[in-house]
Amino acid sequence: MAQVGFIGLGNMGGPMAANLVKGGHQVRVFDLLPAALEAAVAAGCDVAASAGAAAQDADFVITMLPADHHVQTVYLGEQGLVQQVAATALVIDCSTVSAATAQAVHEAFAARGVAFIDAPVSGGVGGAQAGTLTFICGGEASAVNRAHEVLTHMGKNIFHAGAAGAGQIAKICNNMLLSVLMVGTSEALQLGIAHGLDATVLSEIMAKSSGSNWTLDVYNPCPGVMEKAPASRDYEGGFLVDLMSKDLGLAQQAALASGAMTPMGALTHNLYRSWSALGHGRKDFSSIFKLLEAKQK
Ligand code: NAD
Repeated sequence: MAQVGFIGLGNMGGPMAANLVKGGHQVRVFDLLPAALEAAVAAGCDVAASAGAAAQDADFVITMLPADHHVQTVYLGEQGLVQQVAATALVIDCSTVSAATAQAVHEAFAARGVAFIDAPVSGGVGGAQAGTLTFICGGEASAVNRAHEVLTHMGKNIFHAGAAGAGQIAKICNNMLLSVLMVGTSEALQLGIAHGLDATVLSEIMAKSSGSNWTLDVYNPCPGVMEKAPASRDYEGGFLVDLMSKDLGLAQQAALASGAMTPMGALTHNLYRSWSALGHGRKDFSSIFKLLEAKQK
């Protein structure tokens, strides 16, 4: 059993911390929202008064925060964790942020001789609840191996993508591809519907043809085709348009920094930003299907 400090108990972090308790670990948590702390106590966690207090003397410190500036504040700001964790701790950031932020935090810990890895996840809220997440790690191999002791209680697959920041790059490559598949699937379905085809029949045809892909086969964006998909519950729950838009922004930053050509990623970034600006930021990302509905001729 390890002592774990866990900071950031939102849609993802809350169930992840609960799974660590189920795995037999002692978990001390912190979040800015009282409701998130109450849910964590009900799941068997101990509450700390600050991020620093949650991390103090912990064997493992895990963060699951929304975006770059939260991670920078929690680690590198005044009272930042970089100065507060035990020298023997392993620190794991599971948030999706830029590779540059992951590398800056890694460097700050390295100056103190503390191990840090970036370990963003795939699998969504369902995966966080079921303990079946995929962790995509960047950092030293020894630190990634050590992380297995806690990550196996929250996920099924653990990959080592490369050096510090590589986990974040692999994660945004995946999400950029996912967005392209979602937009492509949505426009193909809308084209068929505009010509009078039944979306369920068209989905079955494409699923058994060369257009088959995860967004069509498992997470169909057309309401009514799949009972359990967010599309069939007015796009509630799932992975928010705003989070996808953030990840696509990170992909574009990474493309600019490296000279990589990402025309499809740039287009989907613009589509998701527009969809958010139209008021759909809190809907599931498959709701982009609605933007692509045929207009009157
Ligand atoms: P969320 O907004 O539900 O939760 C974030 C939590 O962090 C909130 O409870 C917030 O109060 C807390 N927080 C913010 N600043 C803090 C601070 N300074 N100290 C302590 N707590 C603080 O977000 P989420 O959906 O749990 O996502 C977290 C990360 O995981 C994001 O980077 C997201 O891109 C990534 N992710 C999300 C999903 C998903 O399906 N939701 C899937 C994969 C990856």
